[in-house]
Amino acid sequence: MTYINFLQIIARRLDGLKKDIIDKVVNYGEDILNDEEIEILENILEEYSISNCPNCGEFIDKSNYEDILFIYDEGMCDSCKNNYDNIINE
Ligand SMILES: [Zn+2]
Repeated sequence: MTYINFLQIIARRLDGLKKDIIDKVVNYGEDILNDEEIEILENILEEYSISNCPNCGEFIDKSNYEDILFIYDEGMCDSCKNNYDNIINE
């Protein structure tokens, strides 16, 4: 998943100004943002700055957008989620 794909997924979850800013970045790049918009973008991305699985502590590379989105949504990494699901289904 590229950075742009990642932004597109985030944009779908947002609305109003936040969505507009992400759409601008996707279409034209970050260079066209003004200072205020950059600050808003940084705040949005801050929410998604996940460097470890909160459950097992597994390190997540900051360019591994699939894993970041997964942990953001599930609260744990893929392998923790599998273990968890197995326990639940036993
Ligand atoms: Zn984990």
